[in-house]
Formats: sequence, structure tokens, C-alpha cells
Amino acid sequence: MSFSLTEYADQVWQGAVDDSIAHTGQAGTGVLDVTDGVGWYPGFGNVITFRTGGEIVLFDTGNPLAAEPLHQAVRAWSRDPVSTAIFSHGHIDHVFGMGGFDAEDAPRPTVIAQERIGERFDRYLLTNGYNAVINQRQFQAPSLTWPTEYRRPEVTYRDAITVTRGELTFELFHVRGETDDATVAWIPEQRILCPGDMFIWVTPNCGNPQKVQRYPREWAVALRRMAGLGAEIMLPSHGAPVFGADRIRQALTETAEWLESLIEQTLDGLNSGARLDDLVQSVRPPAHLADRVYLQAKYDEPEFIVRNRGGATPAGTTATRLTSSPRPTPSSPVRWPSWRAGRGR
Ligand SMILES: [Zn+2]
Repeated sequence: MSFSLTEYADQVWQGAVDDSIAHTGQAGTGVLDVTDGVGWYPGFGNVITFRTGGEIVLFDTGNPLAAEPLHQAVRAWSRDPVSTAIFSHGHIDHVFGMGGFDAEDAPRPTVIAQERIGERFDRYLLTNGYNAVINQRQFQAPSLTWPTEYRRPEVTYRDAITVTRGELTFELFHVRGETDDATVAWIPEQRILCPGDMFIWVTPNCGNPQKVQRYPREWAVALRRMAGLGAEIMLPSHGAPVFGADRIRQALTETAEWLESLIEQTLDGLNSGARLDDLVQSVRPPAHLADRVYLQAKYDEPEFIVRNRGGATPAGTTATRLTSSPRPTPSSPVRWPSWRAGRGR
């Protein structure tokens, strides 16, 4: 029986199959067709490919270990030149796939990203050893090293930029959520939304105490903005596609609601004098969303959002959070080998 991406995505939606940032269900399958001229390369993270007007546009480019298989897979999908790549943000599982395309005997592709990505790369150079240590721990990968060279974008923007390639328009806009440098893409001709890591099929990754300050309130705002676009296909940078306007709107608005509830409970508690340690015990996600496939805490803990004071305190409270003692779960730890390309299904 041939593989149907829409049926697969439906199974993921129903909870019969796990395909999220915690489990990359289809890694190693190459570029799968989503719709006419649009491909999905599943991995950690995913890469979205667009064939338009005789050229290719990539949204995200995956991690360092997947660069070579990504190049081969895209080339098996199309020989058209890659003119443009958009980085959803500067995390290293999204920005390391350009090597093979840059090396082709063709004009060098143009990389587009939000302007703060440059500062992120600078920070990664300053904290190279620290990043290696905390990610070895998070992903239980003792041999993990942290890159020392970064592919810088040719084009950066601050709030929004519209990029036309062939018959497609890429409306890119800046959001804050997991990072301060995130880009979301909306392609109106195809009614496709690429949310990057703003939707990853698990609860938002916005409180991890070992990472820099994240933005739960802005994250919720961005989710509601995305929900208002009326997308019919959503292609996140981790996990399976979502097909259908109703499902996309539901997933985005319920994730926003989940965040808003934690933030509101936390701030109400703090403002009425509760201690943070007590709030960690009492604040709970909305019970009516507990069964949602995409709101399981497999990658981050709601507690971290509480400890993050709902995102209401400025960056620089890291020390408090580092000295607190978060539970060392998630229950099923995310393992680095899920990055490895070439795995069977
Ligand atoms: Zn990611």
C-alpha cells in the first residue's frame, strides 16, 4: 500500500502515531510531496521545500548531521536551483543544511532570517563549551559538540518582509516565543503556514531552565495571529503536517489558551502574594485540554513556565531559575540519535 501523507497526518492528529519534536516519525524518508510543488523533508528539524518558477525555496534546513542527506533528498526531488532559504530561527537544528547547496556550481542561495539571528550566532560562539555541556545533558548525548561556524543570512528584516519567488509569495513575519529571532511564513497562494518551532506537537518549549529566557506571553499572541490567517496546511518545523483549516485553527488557539491559562494563574498568584514554589504546586494547565495530542508535556514542563513567572520578568532572572531544582523529567527523554539521517521508519 502506498504511503499517504494526509492519512499519516490524520493518524498523528488522532494520537495513533507519535510525530512530534519528541519523536521524528518519518525521518529518513526523503522529501514527501505535500501538495503540488511543495515537499516535506521530515527530520530534526523538518525542511519544507517549494518548487516555484524554476527555482526552489527552502523553509528551514535541518541540523548539521542531516546536511548531506538533505542535499541528496532535495536533489532527488528537483534539480532546480535553490535560490532562497528561510531560517525560522537560529537553533542549530534549523540552520545547518546549506553546505551542499552553497557548494553547487550555481549562484549562491540567498538566506533570509530575522535580524536577531546574528546576535544568536555570536552568542553561540561566546558560549560554545557551555552549549555543548547543556545540550549533552538535555539530549543525553555525551559526544555532542557545538558548531563553531554559522551560515549567516544575506538578508535580514526586523518585523516583516514579503518575498516573491515564481508564482508564490512568502509573507514572513517576526514573532517571539521559543526564541527572540523567530520567523513565521505564510504562503497565501497555497494557504500554507510554516510556524517554525511555534508549534511542535507538544506543549510549548518556553521555560526550559537551562536555556535563555523565552516568551510565553508573546508566544500566545503569535499563535492567535497565526490562527487568524485561515491556513489549510500547516507545516511545522518538528512533527507531522496538519491538514484542514479547522484543525489548524483549533491546534493554534488551544495552544494559546493553554499558555494563557498558565500565565494568568501564575501572575494572579504572584500579584496576590503567593510564593513561586507554592505556585509551582498549584498552577495547572486547563483540564479540558488534557487529552490533546499536541498538548502533552513531552519536551518541556508546565512548571518551567511558572518558574519563568509567566514570562513577565525580564531576561536576567536566569540565575534564580538555574539554582531552582526542576524535575529532571520529561518522561521520555528526547534522544540525540533521532537526528541521525537515514533511519528507517
Ligand atoms: Zn527546533
